Amino acid sequence: MSLHPDSKILIIGSGVFGLSTALWLARSGYRRITVFDMQDTGWKGYAPGAGIKSASADINKIVRFSYGNEIEYQRLASQAAEIWDGWNQEIASLAEAELPEVLRKGERKLWHKCGFLRMGAGDEFADTELQTLRNMEIEGIRDTQFKSDDDNDIERAARTGWAHKLDVCSRQERFGVHKAVLDSSAGFVVAYKACAWAQHLARKAGVEFILHPTNGKVVGIDTTADHKPVLRTADGKTHEGDLVVVAGGGWTAGLLPEAVGLIETTAGSVATIQIPHDRPDLWDRFSPENFPVVTWGMKEGKDIYSFPRDENGVIKIGFRKIKWTSYGNVAGERISAPSAEENIPVPALEEYISLNLPELAELGLSSTWLCWYTDSIDNSFVVDFVPGRPRVAICSGGSGHGFKFLPILGREVVKVLEGNGDQTVYGKMWKWRTSTAKERNGLEEGEEGPRVLDKQRMASREDWVF
Ligand SMILES: Cc1cc2nc3c(=O)[nH]c(=O)nc-3n(C[C@H](O)[C@H](O)[C@H](O)COP(=O)(O)OP(=O)(O)OC[C@H]3O[C@@H](n4cnc5c(N)ncnc54)[C@H](O)[C@@H]3O)c2cc1C
Repeated sequence: MSLHPDSKILIIGSGVFGLSTALWLARSGYRRITVFDMQDTGWKGYAPGAGIKSASADINKIVRFSYGNEIEYQRLASQAAEIWDGWNQEIASLAEAELPEVLRKGERKLWHKCGFLRMGAGDEFADTELQTLRNMEIEGIRDTQFKSDDDNDIERAARTGWAHKLDVCSRQERFGVHKAVLDSSAGFVVAYKACAWAQHLARKAGVEFILHPTNGKVVGIDTTADHKPVLRTADGKTHEGDLVVVAGGGWTAGLLPEAVGLIETTAGSVATIQIPHDRPDLWDRFSPENFPVVTWGMKEGKDIYSFPRDENGVIKIGFRKIKWTSYGNVAGERISAPSAEENIPVPALEEYISLNLPELAELGLSSTWLCWYTDSIDNSFVVDFVPGRPRVAICSGGSGHGFKFLPILGREVVKVLEGNGDQTVYGKMWKWRTSTAKERNGLEEGEEGPRVLDKQRMASREDWVF
């Protein structure tokens, strides 16, 4: 199919994938774009406390450039960072009335380049770490990285004001070993403000949003006799378009049964620690000025990450090693889909906190939740037309690393939707694909696998205290 500026484009989902697609379509000259969402991300915003459940609705997300041997993602992340810089500047320059509500109060900054410290739990660097450094070399940005055992890097860190973030957990002093790389170009974005900003920009560019538990909830995608796609919404209405883009995050496979086997919905365990207001020492220690984003023990199977405190004194910590599944009946299929479960399995966070952030152990956790990934068979995104449905496209498979691309993802999605995916690096990477490999990123486990949430002991409030 060929698109023209008056093509009617219907996007399902107002998370990162739907927002970025809508924004870039509108800025590319498409005039009739509607985004549907069953959750009111317009009125409620994207803060997890506001009741929106999606991967994008979160406190903060990591922006990293370290991608092992996947240099294409490294490059795309660098291009995204330029736009994150631009968004920070644009927001700072605008009058309050020109900003979305959530950016009128508190900090206006979306993107914090506080650094990203990737700490090992043992005495060796992970291979991916060394590969990342080689790729940074190739791109001429190696000097943004500081390797903890490299004298030149240590000297450069001291000279450029990064030395205080090289070993924030005093691992060398306390354990006699500290294998880490500090990326001074990376950091985090304030996720809920960033999504609200992108939605605001999309609205300004002419995108229409229908965000409502019935009017905005798509319950089926049909096809007319002349092959046009039609959305059925929960209010009983139908919406005919020229093109439908399914960017439904963890709900995508429920709308597109063809995608079962290519993507799977899994849950990440997330927790927070609230720093009390009468502890200025901790507010200071864990501020983005003094504390970077930290990951710990990827090579050693720990795989935990934490953020500096946010403007409300909240530190977010996540466990990434095991992504949980939650199987149920969805549209006649047994698939893993987001559930309403609020608790996380008894967390592996205690070891990280007591070893690396002992001063926080006495505070315990202040909240937990499950955040729903959409993993693909190879952790790469999936952006393509659905086989056999030339006017229905999938835009999903964020696989736990899609957020940082919010400002740029849509640029590449538009090329795919315009039929040029086969000529672009990312179009080829994100093509619809299948695999018969024995290991497919855990998708091969299915309902019998060990990661099923029903098989876990879920944490209760007693487990929040260490
Ligand atoms: C725990 C966790 C940590 C992560 N950390 C990072 C990180 O540090 N850095 C990073 O870059 N990325 C990270 N990611 C990945 C990133 O968050 C995701 O790639 C991205 O947010 C996915 O966006 P999405 O639009 O695909 O899905 P979502 O954000 O889930 O949005 C999907 C939207 O579709 C709507 N929807 C679904 N079905 C329907 C329907 N039938 N009708 C109407 N609306 C519907 C939903 O209501 C929802 O709003 C993380 C993800 C998780 C889960």
